[in-house]
Amino acid sequence: GEWSLSDKNVYDWSSEEEEPDGRARPIQVLLVKDDHTFELDETALSRILLAEEVRDREVVAISVAGAFRKGKSFLMDFMLRYMYNQASETWLGDSDEPLTGFSWRGGSERETTGIQIWSEVFLVDKPDGTKVAVLLMDTQGTFDSQSTLRDSATVFALSTMISSMQVYNISQNVQEDDLQHLQLFTEYGRLAMEETFLKPFQSMIFLVRDWSFPYEFPYGQEGGMKFLEKRLKISENQHEELQNVRKHIHSCFTNISCFLMPHPGLKVATNPLFDGRLKEIDGEFTNNLKVLVPWLLSPRNIDVKEINGSKITCRGLLEYFKAYIKIYQG
Ligand code: GDP
Ligand code: MG
Repeated sequence: GEWSLSDKNVYDWSSEEEEPDGRARPIQVLLVKDDHTFELDETALSRILLAEEVRDREVVAISVAGAFRKGKSFLMDFMLRYMYNQASETWLGDSDEPLTGFSWRGGSERETTGIQIWSEVFLVDKPDGTKVAVLLMDTQGTFDSQSTLRDSATVFALSTMISSMQVYNISQNVQEDDLQHLQLFTEYGRLAMEETFLKPFQSMIFLVRDWSFPYEFPYGQEGGMKFLEKRLKISENQHEELQNVRKHIHSCFTNISCFLMPHPGLKVATNPLFDGRLKEIDGEFTNNLKVLVPWLLSPRNIDVKEINGSKITCRGLLEYFKAYIKIYQG
């Protein structure tokens, strides 16, 4: 678990390349190509999930999904810091340390759609005495045109199907079209899965970035829950379509929660030279990161992936991943 990468936030080695010195890095395991076909890097995925230390461990799979350029990878890198410094009070790092890991940036990078996973799977001791494997997944989607929406829907569906926790990263508010997108994506997923009496997916976290009404609903998880209850409420006088979206979302996930994050400040949002160091991020944002990340990832809070009610190992997850991809390639 070495975690001292000197470079800025740019990690674009393709997975065919050998790791230069065995350092952990993001691996593009799923890529949506220009002709809208999917490419699964089975070799890379197997290398990660069948590594001897993890393959027979039950797996916790955490995914972050949502539209492009809304700070998903940026958040993921703080999740990595937590995973690498679990036991430490100061996991968030030094105020002058650039943020590295998954590639995040502003500006106009070519937009890929797909799934990246962190090449290092973390072993974590749960308070109940079990040792589980934790896999972090970053997704990339664009959501902007009809065709990219379809690609993104598949990526979203797949990442929801193989994760035990999906973090739905959205900007500013939970709008009606965010809910409609979620309905479309989960419908894509549900259609591809075996029919069961159980809810098909586990935890869904609505993560609202740049929340600007803390006087109405305070930042964090409690404010988030109250806000989400209001947004997901089903009432008689609602239009049927609005009711259906809400019923659908409730029927898909075992747990639904929400966290409201403050804006990180102008340097993060607009300065092209910003390299992720904490001292340039608003204190309110970092204070909430200190709550959010352990809430998502602490050993007590993480849940093993279950499919049809059975716990899945890394080896099992690889099989499901391959099977699900086949359905979409069909
Ligand atoms: P992704 O495409 O969703 O993975 O987005 P990135 O993590 O690459 O971030 C895109 C840009 O948004 C970068 O310039 C970040 O500095 C910036 N950013 C990160 N987090 C936030 C946030 O919470 N709010 C705002 N407004 N910008 C953010
Ligand atoms: Mg990203």
